[in-house]
Amino acid sequence: MVEWLIIGGGIHGSTMFTHLRKMLGVKASQIAWVDPAEEPLAVWKRCTSAVHMTDLRSPGVHHIDTTPFSFIHYAKENRHLFERAPFSGHYKHPSLEAFDMHADATLEDLNWRESWVQGNVVKLQRTSENGWFVLLNSKHGIHARQVILAIGASEAPNIPNFLKPDRASGCYHVFSQEMPSIPKLTGQVAVIGGGITGAQAALAASQGSAAHVTLASGKDLQIQRFDSDPGWLGPKYMKAFNKEKDTTVRRDILTKARHRGSMPRKFYQMLKQHIKDGRITLSEQRVTNASQTQSWQLELADGEALEADHLLLATGFQQKMPGKSWLQPLIDDCDLSTAPCGYPIVDSENLAWHQGLYVMGPLAELELGPVSRNIAGAQRAARRICASQPALVHAE
Ligand SMILES: Cc1cc2nc3c(=O)[nH]c(=O)nc-3n(C[C@H](O)[C@H](O)[C@H](O)COP(=O)(O)OP(=O)(O)OC[C@H]3O[C@@H](n4cnc5c(N)ncnc54)[C@H](O)[C@@H]3O)c2cc1C
Repeated sequence: MVEWLIIGGGIHGSTMFTHLRKMLGVKASQIAWVDPAEEPLAVWKRCTSAVHMTDLRSPGVHHIDTTPFSFIHYAKENRHLFERAPFSGHYKHPSLEAFDMHADATLEDLNWRESWVQGNVVKLQRTSENGWFVLLNSKHGIHARQVILAIGASEAPNIPNFLKPDRASGCYHVFSQEMPSIPKLTGQVAVIGGGITGAQAALAASQGSAAHVTLASGKDLQIQRFDSDPGWLGPKYMKAFNKEKDTTVRRDILTKARHRGSMPRKFYQMLKQHIKDGRITLSEQRVTNASQTQSWQLELADGEALEADHLLLATGFQQKMPGKSWLQPLIDDCDLSTAPCGYPIVDSENLAWHQGLYVMGPLAELELGPVSRNIAGAQRAARRICASQPALVHAE
């Protein structure tokens, strides 16, 4: 039996791990940290490298460690290790290189390997001893006193219902494991999706070997510096959100507050330049259907058509509750509260869904607001969960 079990090794799971180790002084041997990958942050690294991301959209105080200036101090001390300046702009947006190096170094210092268990959780059960039992796809089982669900949304990419991505057809979701290197794609490339991911994918293809790129944005390009207003990071908007008790209203607020499908000005300007140079064509029409003969034929809402050799879906992740298939039996057995949208209703003090069962990321968004899925949300969740726990001895 371990004290803590974290399910999910992404940004959220990593942030929880650092907080358990440093804020509560939990030993690495008392944490089981489960994820299908060989090491932490695999999905984050795959997604960011797929679109050739160079800088984060969030500021430098958002990272996986416990103290706000940890990353900035690390960057100062290790400046010689980076290929370029670790931060840029007024908000000190970190370079991806520096962000990842800081995250890796922080986890390494905390001996993550001792906690890591490679596997996929297929079942979670309450035990008669008021603990938890987790079953992995390997049939291996783990008992834990407390469990944290940090499963993200990446297991469910959003795919238009008229498409079935696969390698043979040249149609890919950009965040899938099958996604080939975008700059190496040749011929006509079409990107579906008008947010930051669509922009990054279109630019990567245009700067690479593509003969031509079409960005099917489905709408006007929208400029937003962050993916929700910074007022959501503090009481400015969170006060009213917390006061609202109706979870359906909260869901509406969340949907409106997120700038889904937007991009920072920098990408907008780069796209405009590529469009002006004739390397990218922008179609603001929605793609309504697609078929493939030799190449892809895309039907647009205005009746026009597009042709492409490669089809890249920059359509994000599904909005439905992640982990539903294996969490539903637990929801039924323990009578866990859910909102009409299917997401957990949790204790606002400590993000507990049940005694000893905590949530982060998308699963905590009805409590933490629109930043819940982001790095700032991971910090907020980890602090709140830890603040409700008695501190143990100092970390090893
Ligand atoms: C390209 C990109 C750039 C982004 N840039 C920023 C940014 O600059 N700033 C910012 O704040 N946010 C950013 N985000 C948003 C957000 O911070 C990231 O998506 C972040 O990686 C989410 O972390 P996560 O841990 O919730 O999810 P994930 O990275 O998806 O990690 C969840 C992990 O849980 C595992 N898991 C799921 N189910 C199970 C199971 N049953 N058993 C075991 N493991 C399981 C998954 O395999 C995965 O490894 C960005 C997102 C993307 C895609």
